Amino acid sequence: MEKVKNLVVGCGLSGATIARQIAEICKEEVTIIDKRSSIAGNCYDYIDENNICIHKYGTHIFHTNLEEVWKFLSRFTKWHPYFHQVVAQIDGKEVPIPFNFNSIEMIFPYEMAKKFEKKLINRYGFNIKVPILELKKEGDKDLEFLAQYVYEKVFLNYTLKQWGLSPEELDPTVTGRVPIYISKDNRYFQDKYQGIPMEGYTRLVEKILDHPYIHIHLSQDYHKIKNDIEFDKLFFTGCIDEFYDFEFGELPYRSLNFDFRTYPYPYFQRNATVNYPNNFDFTRIGEYKYFLNNTSDHTVVSYEYPEPYIRGENDPYYPIIKKENQLLYQRYLNKAAQDPRHIYFLGRLGDYKYYDMDKAINRALLLFKEVKEKW
Ligand SMILES: Cc1cc2nc3c(=O)[nH]c(=O)nc-3n(C[C@H](O)[C@H](O)[C@H](O)COP(=O)(O)OP(=O)(O)OC[C@H]3O[C@@H](n4cnc5c(N)ncnc54)[C@H](O)[C@@H]3O)c2cc1C
Repeated sequence: MEKVKNLVVGCGLSGATIARQIAEICKEEVTIIDKRSSIAGNCYDYIDENNICIHKYGTHIFHTNLEEVWKFLSRFTKWHPYFHQVVAQIDGKEVPIPFNFNSIEMIFPYEMAKKFEKKLINRYGFNIKVPILELKKEGDKDLEFLAQYVYEKVFLNYTLKQWGLSPEELDPTVTGRVPIYISKDNRYFQDKYQGIPMEGYTRLVEKILDHPYIHIHLSQDYHKIKNDIEFDKLFFTGCIDEFYDFEFGELPYRSLNFDFRTYPYPYFQRNATVNYPNNFDFTRIGEYKYFLNNTSDHTVVSYEYPEPYIRGENDPYYPIIKKENQLLYQRYLNKAAQDPRHIYFLGRLGDYKYYDMDKAINRALLLFKEVKEKW
């Protein structure tokens, strides 16, 4: 039986962040394991034979307003300035997403577009994001027409493909991520800090983990070794339902299948991300060379096909945030609160939350502070 002081399960951003804080601030040894053969979790990237940086688990763009998170990461990486833009194929045109004034002007005749814009500004003000489901409930006939158009053409089928659910079945925190933006700003994010780690995400995580007190063991599934290892404290970034042997049932997740293609020409599309709300079975195509501006006479894209998560067959990517799942998650949380061992759950899977990278790191930083009080 091996005995360790601090065991961290998962070498993604959540696990790496908490491991670093424990090693650096508490000056304690940390053992970190991952069942994958790579570090960096879903942010894992690598340079392919065409000198293009590929994000193995789908396109990842860093953005945050959280000063502390930006400062923490910037100790370990320089940043390549990058402002993400997304377009969607709507009725044969590529229009900016979130749907904004430029999108309105591309779709509707001039007079009509101006009328919508004036009404939106009068009702909400400028530089505001309005969730589509909220706009649908407006008393105004024109705004309701606009909302219905965007709902049908941009939102409904994309959501059905992405989640296998209608927008109304999902929590507003998820559907609120697809607003109408009262602006001419085509950037997908408006955060103060945006960019791509200059040497990629894997190198960033490698540097976070580069500390003499941190010991990394890859290709180790916690569930296979749990009877051979003892710990004082465990920080678990895997699925909380799996940790408790699915005692109350399985928490549902959405998974993805990435179909990567290499093409023998410099560019495939004019944007890093093109969404396909209404045509095809895939939701979007990501083109990787845009992120670090890699030069190559080839290009690599991934077609993203959402699918249900099936244990043992694919990966759990997105928690499905809806009421009954939250209640089930709460049962596991109550169970964790009664667990006499020092076990802390965090990360997208441990917290069953739709975290972006910055929120996952922030959660790890805050959890560390909380636990350190009792150290
Ligand atoms: C397709 C996609 C695109 C995304 N795009 C963006 C984006 O553009 N911007 C953004 O900010 N965020 C994005 N995200 C979110 C981002 O990936 C997450 O916020 C971040 O990866 C969370 O890190 P984590 O450490 O919590 O989880 P993960 O990265 O999932 O890491 C968890 C790790 O735990 C390991 N693990 C699980 N169970 C066990 C076990 N039993 N034993 C050992 N190891 C285990 C897993 O193998 C994994 O490596 C995206 C997510 C997806 C799925």
